[in-house]
Amino acid sequence: MADKLPDIKTQFSEWYQEVINQAELIDQAPVRGCMVMRPYGYAIWENIQKNLDARIKAQGYQNCAFPLLIPESFLQQEKSHVEGFAPEVAVVTHAGGSELEEKLVIRPTSETIIHHMFSRWIHSWRDLPMKVNQWCSVIRWEMRPRPFLRTTEFWWHECHAAHATRQEAHADLTAAHYNIYKNFIEHDLAIPVITGAKSVNEQFAGADLTLTHEGVMQDGKALQMATSHMISQSFAKAFAMQFQDDAGTMQYPWLSSFGATTRLIGAMIMVHGDQKGLVLPPSIAPYHIVITPIVKTTNKDKVLAYAESIKARLEKTFRVHIDTTSSTPGAKFYHWEVRGVPIRLEVGERDVDGNVCVCVERIDSSKTVVSTIEQSSSPEQEDPLQLFFAEKLESIRHKMFSKASAMQASWLTRSADVAEFGPRIEQHGGVIQTGWCGGNECEKALKQYKATIRCLSEDKSCTSCCVCKKPSITDCIIAKSY
Ligand SMILES: [Zn+2]
Repeated sequence: MADKLPDIKTQFSEWYQEVINQAELIDQAPVRGCMVMRPYGYAIWENIQKNLDARIKAQGYQNCAFPLLIPESFLQQEKSHVEGFAPEVAVVTHAGGSELEEKLVIRPTSETIIHHMFSRWIHSWRDLPMKVNQWCSVIRWEMRPRPFLRTTEFWWHECHAAHATRQEAHADLTAAHYNIYKNFIEHDLAIPVITGAKSVNEQFAGADLTLTHEGVMQDGKALQMATSHMISQSFAKAFAMQFQDDAGTMQYPWLSSFGATTRLIGAMIMVHGDQKGLVLPPSIAPYHIVITPIVKTTNKDKVLAYAESIKARLEKTFRVHIDTTSSTPGAKFYHWEVRGVPIRLEVGERDVDGNVCVCVERIDSSKTVVSTIEQSSSPEQEDPLQLFFAEKLESIRHKMFSKASAMQASWLTRSADVAEFGPRIEQHGGVIQTGWCGGNECEKALKQYKATIRCLSEDKSCTSCCVCKKPSITDCIIAKSY
């Protein structure tokens, strides 16, 4: 049996690292800051991909694949973009045995290459909107790597769109931010988010509006979960992307992009995990149900056959696994608890004789004895056992969202004065709603507490700036962040 996990309350970052190790999600790569996703971690990512991809396609985006290598000159065509990304870009200078005439960058994001291609594909208003998505990995050199949260190479999806008008681009972006991201994060990941626009300083390099969803972790820090950007016309001008509108006039299209990364896995660990390890939301758990047979040499065949019969009834609908290892029951429980499997089904000889199994929920250890006698009489009729687990998994999702909402609420407070809340969040964490004058200096003043404006709030109830006390133009959400 593996060692106990560090205390989640007092050693949160050690706990986080050790959960990742014991659940075998990732391992360190030979290149510092890169990660190797192991089968169990990658299975979680595949479920995230599958559920996000369906939503992305439902909004009219088509999947494509663009090259990993981008000519260095592309990055330099849009001034704020190159300034934003230059420090983290990896550059290929040699290939084929000699120095390259033009250096190539490894994509840190794909706006430049995709906009270059858009400029070849978009000629008329009939070509719009153009909406593409790409699943890939990107490289942004990371000086202080942390598993899932900040890694030099990370996996993500990036959606890019061109529209004829700003209104259309903005409407599509807002729909994506809510229908794709908010829906996925709150429903599938069971993580409540705080939504708003980024301050100008925190916007994507080259965008004039960045929307974010911020999650609150159990240590009171915020985590940016997914962002959506109005790139407007800056890149269209940089890449000479024009179309003829229906009146025959040449126009620049309005561009937008949005992305979400493997850091979603880090968020899920830090929001839902507990002293026993991961707690995975059913929709992305590699296994919904793990059956742990409790056997002796005398009854092994009988108990395993019974476990198999339960699996056969459930696996059409659920991801089910039987732990047939020779480990002790205690070791099996520990193994699947640290991996966050939503439901453990215990099956011993007495359960076989009584035609029952014991359902144990990972979220709160609650136990239910479930009858296995009743079976559907016809193929069209749903198996009561299946119905039971469908309802159980849905109730687990609700419990997880409620628990995460209560945790989020426990960190959220209002305060009017940075001198009051600054030292508090620097020491203990916390998420503050307060007023802001919109000034740069006041935003910078938060740095002394290692805090930033996570997003602007639609709520405008604060009257004065928390730093300079001048009238507030918008409420904002302030916290330390990952
Ligand atoms: Zn101010």
